[in-house]
Amino acid sequence: MKLDLLTVGTELLLGHTVDTNAAELGRALAAAGVEIDRHITVADRADAIRSAVAESLARAGAVLTTGGLGPTRDDVTKTAVAELLGRALVLDDALLHGLEERFRTLGRWPMPEVNRSQAMIPEGATVLPNPRGTAPGLWMEDERGRLVMMLPGVPREMRGLLVEEVLPRLVARQQRAGGAPAVVLSRTVRTTGIPESALAERLAGVEEEIAPLTLAYLPSVDGVDLRITAWSLPREDAERRLADAAERVRTRAGDHCYGEDGADLAAVVLDAVRRRRGRLGVAESCTGGLLGERLTAIPGASDVFVGGVVAYANGVKTDLLGVAPEIVERHGAVSEEAVRLMAAGAQRVFNAYCALAVTGIAGPTGGTAEKPVGTVWLAAAAGEHVRALKRIFPGDREEIRRRGAQAALDLLRRLLGAA
Ligand code: ATP
Ligand code: MG
Repeated sequence: MKLDLLTVGTELLLGHTVDTNAAELGRALAAAGVEIDRHITVADRADAIRSAVAESLARAGAVLTTGGLGPTRDDVTKTAVAELLGRALVLDDALLHGLEERFRTLGRWPMPEVNRSQAMIPEGATVLPNPRGTAPGLWMEDERGRLVMMLPGVPREMRGLLVEEVLPRLVARQQRAGGAPAVVLSRTVRTTGIPESALAERLAGVEEEIAPLTLAYLPSVDGVDLRITAWSLPREDAERRLADAAERVRTRAGDHCYGEDGADLAAVVLDAVRRRRGRLGVAESCTGGLLGERLTAIPGASDVFVGGVVAYANGVKTDLLGVAPEIVERHGAVSEEAVRLMAAGAQRVFNAYCALAVTGIAGPTGGTAEKPVGTVWLAAAAGEHVRALKRIFPGDREEIRRRGAQAALDLLRRLLGAA
């Protein structure tokens, strides 16, 4: 199949932003057997977008756009395409609800009126969920079966939607049309505790080694997933190559890898504690119960996980967990000394071999020059062994809390030497 690629953005024309989306889409689509016939860049102007999409639909029958899906005035791709195809914009209740939830948890309530526009979708369009941002992707077909796919401009959001939503749909469409690639199979190597750029350094050269299979980096607050895909190969060949590629990727990722595909770090940790015939208790401050939530979400957690203390006030850290008040006074509640004692306290309170403790500043207020928002101290204990670690996480309150819970689980995984 053929399609036109349309990148939207005045900043691309002015050279303020390099069009990395076009390069990435070129590589990924070619690997999936989709041919890009032409690549056009237009300004953030409705008339320019409308005429480019119209021309592409007439020539190629399909067009993929990136950019201009946000909530601001210069984001006009969706309205321009809806107008061209003669579709009204209608409110998508589920999308609106999701957006409102997002703003509520971020403490930015009420949601600005402009963001409501992001829940408006052209009639008949399929919403492609975007867990990495607020603007979903859109998939639209007109009555003649011609196709418009719209993705956000932010590269990591574009990439996620491409791999998770667009490519599988395009491949299925090709299969239906009879130009059948044999099978498309993926495996995902899950990593955490290492930034995307450092991971890319470790994996340098691996893309060439595993070709024609492709490798996509999918970052989230939980870590970076490495999705390996075999496109259009006979099943046996695909499976054999995938096994080899996954092995290579895992080896390069080293101990940053905690599992594959649907693996959940909480389950990996519970298994590791179970193998030691131990039990686990937690003491959490800034994560406020998230660790307990992650652990109890795993079926069968009860034989390992004993319980948790949400030690939010200093009084709970001192009275219940036995952190000496002088320690809090001298070093603060967010400190190595405090977090180590919190972990020891959890071991004692829950009579558990293993314990996790988290204390940090989730923001948006409460940061200082010495301990900025995002500073989180973590501790993992297994018997006599205790490991403490300071991290400074990026992101908003929700993100810092989620990263804190994931990093705590990861610390215990590493302490126990579990894969
Ligand atoms: P948002 O919701 O953030 O407004 P959007 O879909 O409206 O997303 P844009 O506003 O066009 O996208 O761009 C968002 C960000 O992504 C900008 O920083 C922009 O420079 C970058 N970006 C947009 N298009 C591309 C591209 N083709 N290549 C690389 N970066 C891009
Ligand atoms: Mg925008």
